[in-house]
Amino acid sequence: MPHQADTERVLGAVDELREELVETVSEAVRIESVNPKYPGQVYEDVVGGEGEVSRFVSKVYEDFGCEVDLFAVEGGRENCVGVWRGAGSGQSLIYNGHVDVVPPGDPANWRSGSAWSGKVDDDRIWGRGSTDMKGGVLAQAFAALAIRRAGFGLKGDLILEAVVGEEVMDHECGVTATVKRGYTADAAVVSEPTLLRTHSLWYR
Ligand SMILES: [Zn+2]
Repeated sequence: MPHQADTERVLGAVDELREELVETVSEAVRIESVNPKYPGQVYEDVVGGEGEVSRFVSKVYEDFGCEVDLFAVEGGRENCVGVWRGAGSGQSLIYNGHVDVVPPGDPANWRSGSAWSGKVDDDRIWGRGSTDMKGGVLAQAFAALAIRRAGFGLKGDLILEAVVGEEVMDHECGVTATVKRGYTADAAVVSEPTLLRTHSLWYR
């Protein structure tokens, strides 16, 4: 069990990172990353956004010292894996989430004016993907970052994953590709907010 003082240090780092996390999620939401295989989409017109989000997330992973691996089964649809190496004496953990989103539908339905505004007001981030699930992907990265900022290392490896293809069960291009590439762990946490399908992310 961690000491109470250690826990407080990590929670303090979480608080200090709050604004940076909100800004980072907002920036990610502004990248249009509709799944190109979603019904009604023209693949050639839409492909590329997912890879752009993965490259954006890779910078976050890199910034706190992860080994970063960007790879794609289909061009423009890169997955990103960031590995924070542990000392080798503990169990490993995967934090996983997807970077693709479903189409935004009728623009008139977006009170913030656009599905890609990433607008932040009061306690919400507006835009497609803020909840499902760029918020989750980046919250996982920032959870790891908070531990590092608080001055702690890990015993086992932490594997951070931002993958494509989830919205149409195209996992061969996404999460299955990460497994085939060799990324496995003792346990995994997926930050999918399936039962909270709203258009905003609450962060308080
Ligand atoms: Zn989702």
